[in-house]
Amino acid sequence: MQTKTAHAFREDPVAEPDAEPPSQCPGSLPAARAAGAPLFPLLGALAVSRANPRTRSFRRRFFPEATSAEWSDWRWQLSNRIRDTDALARIICLSEGERAAIERHHGPLPVGITPYYLSLVDPIDPEQPLRRTVVPVLGEYLRIQGEADDPLHEDGHCPVPGIVHRYPDRVLFLVTGLCSVYCRYCTRSRMVGTSSGENFGRNTWQRALEYVAATPQIRDVLISGGDPLTLSDEVLEYLLGSLRAIPHVEMIRIGTKVPAVLPQRITPALTRTLKKHHPFWLSIHFTHPDELTPEVAAACGRLADAGIPLGSQTVLLAGVNDDLATMRRLMHGLLRNRVKPYYLYQCDPISGSSHFRTPVEKGLEIIAGLRGHTSGYAVPTYVIDAPGGGGKIPLLPQTVAGRDGDDLLLRNHEGRIFRYPDPGGSLGAALATAP
Ligand code: SF4
Repeated sequence: MQTKTAHAFREDPVAEPDAEPPSQCPGSLPAARAAGAPLFPLLGALAVSRANPRTRSFRRRFFPEATSAEWSDWRWQLSNRIRDTDALARIICLSEGERAAIERHHGPLPVGITPYYLSLVDPIDPEQPLRRTVVPVLGEYLRIQGEADDPLHEDGHCPVPGIVHRYPDRVLFLVTGLCSVYCRYCTRSRMVGTSSGENFGRNTWQRALEYVAATPQIRDVLISGGDPLTLSDEVLEYLLGSLRAIPHVEMIRIGTKVPAVLPQRITPALTRTLKKHHPFWLSIHFTHPDELTPEVAAACGRLADAGIPLGSQTVLLAGVNDDLATMRRLMHGLLRNRVKPYYLYQCDPISGSSHFRTPVEKGLEIIAGLRGHTSGYAVPTYVIDAPGGGGKIPLLPQTVAGRDGDDLLLRNHEGRIFRYPDPGGSLGAALATAP
């Protein structure tokens, strides 16, 4: 249940004025916003439909020719993505490293940022979390031992192009290589954003659908990419309808970052299309609480009102969300927006990702700081997607402390030991008996 007073969006009092930026930094923010302070401190589920003040101000300054209708049109946002150094430098003050990294880039995972998402990026501070996730840095060109272009061996589990079949009863169905925003830590950085890979095409989809239809053990299909919600409603209707017509497919999911980076895409027409194919679930990729704008709240609200269960998937990223306070703010914000935190991923060892990866202890420390200290619904499952294609392996803070005869000794969230009568059991016997 939502309460208006607790969750109502309050406009950021320092983001609205059009203060003149320093001349060398085109999009400087008003100086009053302290580094690290939340963009939308009290945002909740009672979203307003108009653009947030920071984004309005950004639009007036950098896209003055865009009408409100254009700005709110997802196709306009997609076709006006910022994709090169000149366009980005017109809006943010690029560091030397960022500029060099963009200019050195070729191949997949290009720069691509929707105007809407760029409005949330700090134009001056290269260390701002959202900026780190979408603006390349030279660290991307560093390859260290253990990294790989396809660390999860997805390409080795493809019975037909577009299908990754690793678990017995479910498949990944990769339908496009196009994303509205390119995340610099993307697990599929080897294949997204290439001109040839943006559209997988009907022949590839048809072969993949035939594989699913011919494989009766598949009961769950996760449509991913790239970002499937960059496809038109008509194409989504074709894909979802084709899957729904296969009797053994019980559950259809889409994995997407669109609600966070292109919330304009979540139109009433799209939600009508999606809700026709229940049971249909959406896994949304959220990274940081500053993504939870009024526009995102409205998008999530529309999806939730259509009866679509929403789960979030978050990648643990150094310098972005690797502290308890940020992660708690994100998880609480997601719940206020009717999104259940589902997975927290340890960052995959993708080539050039070492600047994003944290020690595994950091993830466990964050989970330990959430578990027992806040609502259970706010605690995601922390997993490592095992390199080599071993699948997701959950990691939990150690709660089994030992065994004393018939008693299992358990450690709670405060570190205190409790006994649970467990006659006949042996769990914990191999551990040192707790005092
Ligand atoms: S939206 Fe998803 S697929 Fe696209 S770049 Fe980001 S993480 Fe990769």
